[in-house]
Amino acid sequence: RKLGYAIVGLGYYATQQIMPQFRNCRHSRLVALVSGTPEKLARYGAEYGVPARNRYDYKSFDRIRDNPDIDIVYVVLPNNMHAEYTIRAARAGKHVMCEKPMAVSVAECQAMIAACRAAGRKLMIGYRSRFEPHNRLAIELARKGEVGPTRVIIAQHGFDAKPNQWRLDRRMAGGGSMMDIGIYSLNAARYLTGEEPVSVTAVDSTDRRDPRFASVEDRVSFQLTFPSGIIADCLSSYSSNHNGYRVAGTEGHIDLEPATSYTGQRMSIRRGDQTSVRTVPPGDVNQFAGQLDHLSQCVIDGTDPIVGGEEGLADLRLIEAVYRAAREGRAVRLG
Ligand code: NAD
Repeated sequence: RKLGYAIVGLGYYATQQIMPQFRNCRHSRLVALVSGTPEKLARYGAEYGVPARNRYDYKSFDRIRDNPDIDIVYVVLPNNMHAEYTIRAARAGKHVMCEKPMAVSVAECQAMIAACRAAGRKLMIGYRSRFEPHNRLAIELARKGEVGPTRVIIAQHGFDAKPNQWRLDRRMAGGGSMMDIGIYSLNAARYLTGEEPVSVTAVDSTDRRDPRFASVEDRVSFQLTFPSGIIADCLSSYSSNHNGYRVAGTEGHIDLEPATSYTGQRMSIRRGDQTSVRTVPPGDVNQFAGQLDHLSQCVIDGTDPIVGGEEGLADLRLIEAVYRAAREGRAVRLG
């Protein structure tokens, strides 16, 4: 059985990464589009065979309630619109996939979780790396102590942000590099350990003379301490290029670089004085189709997504703690 997805927001990620992946799905199909731009509705509607009656704009959006073709709404809008469209979708009786970051504040995340719960609908956050085979293997190896018990995680994510985009406008993005790309370092530290941090320290190094960073942060270095004693040393950047992490144990380390890119993951494992490259066998489903089908499968089986609203909320809580630690220049305790 294939569940029907409505995509809300026809920007880069939706049209260039997500929509082409429905052809690789076993339980998901694209049935509806939502956009404020009639030309995009016409163009992508024709390309994906979405009939005119299943094309909506932001005003007619709530009428999805009357459309039985739509099971799941996938919110791929700027961050400050995630909460509104998730809540409207739940009230229209639809399950929701929402892009990361889940929203721009903890309070919004809580409202989204409450709305989906009240409507009896599932909520999942677009943490695609959890469906990427190398990341899944890294989690398994880290947790079973392949290089000895984990002691330190180093996670770095960044890119050089182009000027003049909503990501650099605090009102729309909720913050800077932490919200967009640093969240991958943070989320990886949590999924590699399977633990929730107990304290956070952070330093914000943003050149406020750079016009890109008038309202949002650029580089943030932050450290997380976990209950077992593991520490994570993390970087988030909007002016330098990084995509990788290392899990260091008592006997060696596991490297993934790139780690959370769309394709091309590479893993190597160093144990003692031996380094080996690990390739994940082809045939595994790709992370995008895996993510889409996971929520469909959860709806079909009546189970909960492995990355539900609580996961998005946990990251937003930590991002707020990172900001506070940087602002106040002291460790912030959590829990
Ligand atoms: P984008 O700017 O390319 O797309 C955003 C879309 O929202 C555009 O089509 C735009 O027209 C539409 N929109 C509707 N109302 C708008 C308004 N008032 N102002 C501005 N745009 C409006 O951005 P994107 O890169 O596709 O990112 C969209 C979301 O997807 C973000 O939350 C982002 O964090 C997330 N994302 C996730 C990944 C991932 O790998 N999981 C990758 C890229 C983006």
